Amino acid sequence: MELATALKDYVGRETPLYHAQNLTNHYKNINGEGPEIYLKREDLNHGGSYKMNNVIAQAILAKLMGRKSVITATSAGHHGVATAAVCAKLSLECTIFVGTRDMQRKPSNLQLMKLLGAKVKLVDGNFQAAASESIRAWLENLETDYYLAGTAVGPHPIPTMVREFNSVIGKETRKQAMEKWGGKPDVLVACVGSGCNALGEIGVYHGAMCYLLQDEDGQIIRTQSVASGVDCYTVTDQEAVDAYKRLGRLEGIIPALETSHALAYLEKLCPTLPRGAKVVVNCSGSRYNDAPVVLNKS
Ligand SMILES: *Cc1c(COP(=O)(O)O)cnc(C)c1O
Repeated sequence: MELATALKDYVGRETPLYHAQNLTNHYKNINGEGPEIYLKREDLNHGGSYKMNNVIAQAILAKLMGRKSVITATSAGHHGVATAAVCAKLSLECTIFVGTRDMQRKPSNLQLMKLLGAKVKLVDGNFQAAASESIRAWLENLETDYYLAGTAVGPHPIPTMVREFNSVIGKETRKQAMEKWGGKPDVLVACVGSGCNALGEIGVYHGAMCYLLQDEDGQIIRTQSVASGVDCYTVTDQEAVDAYKRLGRLEGIIPALETSHALAYLEKLCPTLPRGAKVVVNCSGSRYNDAPVVLNKS
């Protein structure tokens, strides 16, 4: 299968650059002035998030390399679900490592991965434990298995591949912005979890030199919720929950909780921007099974 065709007919690209008129109105000041807000609808990708862009490209590579099976690890589950789906489509065996602590939060993703035919291996602990275990398993079967990395962490060429395969989002956004208002966006807002956007200092993770969040002794620091353009901002749980509900009520779109962190930053950003400034938020995913978490919080 050719990547361009797969992205179009299986993933459903290109995704819309959507003018969120009600959200735009919400941020107008008393003089009726404010920025124009657009959502890059990556939540509309097959599987419900931008993760599919990278996963389908790497799975096609695995197939071209003659690999029979794919190994990966997932935390919240979007990467795992996307990988399981594509492996089913390409007739690749699929094994996914999941930390027990993550899966208690998202049991329905576990069921989805199994329904899609993946073998799910539970590992005591969090995503870091699951990731280490998955790499160990892969090292035992280097000749036959393909390790399908979900984020820009690890040895070359993983970060390059993940960046390259997700750059479709930026390229499309640029083209669509040209078509819609004849220019580039003034501000891009996105949320970061494990870090498809490079962040941190040079250090060592899983034996490879890379950029990461670490303390003075080179120990990995736990990630925090951050939404960023070039700068990084943290957002509280409550702010993210409020943003999640706001998008549903104003635009009829239920975002993922991750995405809600980027949306929450609009509260701080919008009052600082001049009238007509073009803001693009990467609506990175949707996940209806976040709803119970949100309703419990409010
Ligand atoms: C994974 C994910 C993110 C975070 O991506 P990173 O690669 O961790 O920066 C954001 N939004 C959604 C919906 C995701 O699934």
